Amino acid sequence: MVSSTFNERGADVGRRAALISGASFAGLATAYGLNRLGYQVTVVEAAAGLRRGGTPVDIEGETIAILEQMGLVELVRAKALPSRRFEFKNADNTTLGSIGVSGDQASEVRYEIHRDDLLDILFGAVANDVEVLFGRSISSLDEQAESVSVTLNDGKRRDVALMVGCDGNRSNTRRLVFGNGDQFTYFLGGYFFLKVVPETGLVAADTSEVFRAPGRMAMLNGYDDRTDIGFGFRTDAEIAYDYRDRAQQRRLIQQRCGDLGWKVPDMLASVAGDDDFYFDRINQIRMPCWSRGRVVLVGDAGYCVSPLAGLGGSMAIIGAGRLAAALERFPDDHASAFRHYEDELRPFVEQIQQRAADEGMSTMCPADEAELAARDREIAAGHMGW
Ligand SMILES: Cc1cc2nc3c(=O)[nH]c(=O)nc-3n(C[C@H](O)[C@H](O)[C@H](O)COP(=O)(O)OP(=O)(O)OC[C@H]3O[C@@H](n4cnc5c(N)ncnc54)[C@H](O)[C@@H]3O)c2cc1C
Repeated sequence: MVSSTFNERGADVGRRAALISGASFAGLATAYGLNRLGYQVTVVEAAAGLRRGGTPVDIEGETIAILEQMGLVELVRAKALPSRRFEFKNADNTTLGSIGVSGDQASEVRYEIHRDDLLDILFGAVANDVEVLFGRSISSLDEQAESVSVTLNDGKRRDVALMVGCDGNRSNTRRLVFGNGDQFTYFLGGYFFLKVVPETGLVAADTSEVFRAPGRMAMLNGYDDRTDIGFGFRTDAEIAYDYRDRAQQRRLIQQRCGDLGWKVPDMLASVAGDDDFYFDRINQIRMPCWSRGRVVLVGDAGYCVSPLAGLGGSMAIIGAGRLAAALERFPDDHASAFRHYEDELRPFVEQIQQRAADEGMSTMCPADEAELAARDREIAAGHMGW
């Protein structure tokens, strides 16, 4: 690594600087890769700390290889969750069918880990080497010939060689660089709510339960110390709501799912009054190009595959690993590196997006009684498709 001398703006004149927006899977894994390549990395995260919560992340195949290169696989293995039993329920709580997943049926190595545990592991891997600024975001970007000039919401300016947008489905970087974010949003026709609460007694540990009605679903994931409470519902078009107004979103869940029956009244009671939850439209991000000049997108910001794909966390880590590999291959040519990153990764992303778009909603929330009955017959015959 080149030795450091700092100029008056805090920039290390001996190393190229890189700025990353978003400190989740894409941002932290990209920070690790760029730091290893010798960049002086700053991560800005809009939230006051790491954004916690959400369902566990599946880790397999290339994601394991990347975490191995980062020296993190042992830490992941130590936190891996036990095998999980998946049960599909009727309104009277009888089991329509069940499967065991995560390990016991899988032929290849596969881990499931709490989203928070993986965030902590990735943060621990960069915390000593990378500057992470919480409560900050980018206000404006100005690309020059040799650098990008970035102004933060505290008014400070940074001149960096590379800027990486890892700020998720509603990416600020995408909006600032590529224009109105919604032109790239491909709405899949529904919404997903998820809240992690202390163990509720509503579901056994290491078990998931799913109850589906036409256009709606409720889900419980049980662990020894916590319960995930999930709801999904279909809509023909996007609902107008203020994504910062959490009370309004809780009311939406109550209105859409409150009369579902099954264990839903108890589930809603366990999430009442707490604004710390995940709620978002189910959508994909489909862009014709993931980079512009010295700015490149990684993870949900550039190619969100949607919660229906079950691969969002892995895809973010794979994206970060592929970007670092491309920059290593073309060390002084970011344009070639960005092109290579996209050429290599895009076919895989599009394949996953297509599968989620074709099958995801009908699996999660069958549209009507006929589709639900067909899905229930598949479950009874042992073809779960979940
Ligand atoms: C709290 C939370 C819970 C989630 N729960 C689920 C779930 O249950 N099921 C599921 O399928 N997916 C869930 N997701 C989405 C899933 O984590 C992503 O698909 C996946 O992790 C991709 O990672 P990412 O790093 O690209 O994006 P994300 O994990 O979405 O991370 C984006 C990061 O950017 C930050 N950010 C946003 N705007 C700005 C800004 N203007 N400036 C700086 N930083 C910004 C966010 O705070 C966040 O830390 C959740 C995401 C979050 C943030």
